Amino acid sequence: MELKKCRDCRTLFQYTSGPVYCSRCKLNHESLIKDIKDYLYDYPHTDIKMLSEALNISPKLIEGFIRSGRIELTSDSPIKITCDVCGVRIQHGRVCDDCQKETADSFKEVSGGGAKKEAEEAPMKSEGIRMHNRR
Ligand SMILES: [Zn+2]
Ligand SMILES: [Zn+2]
Repeated sequence: MELKKCRDCRTLFQYTSGPVYCSRCKLNHESLIKDIKDYLYDYPHTDIKMLSEALNISPKLIEGFIRSGRIELTSDSPIKITCDVCGVRIQHGRVCDDCQKETADSFKEVSGGGAKKEAEEAPMKSEGIRMHNRR
């Protein structure tokens, strides 16, 4: 467990995993997301700026919800976010499909090395258990 500062209300809280928000803000976000979804259902052609003004939510927060995939955009929505790597327009996530493929490939190399190391250690561990059981 580690203490982190909530990115929204700036209070310290016990951080476990996922976005760095305290449980109160997370709950609050759930209702904001509901509001945004409702609003987009009624007005599908609203962009982030209009949303943020209509619902009084910071544009950054709205963008974060979209990037994390919690708000799905219709294909004709004026809301567009851009790939962190190449800047092409995307509908959700942080990077476009092409860049995602590239980062996935480099991830594979990294985690592949990690798995190999684990595999080297694992037989020793299980052998130790077996020997222990025999005695
Ligand atoms: Zn908070
Ligand atoms: Zn890209």
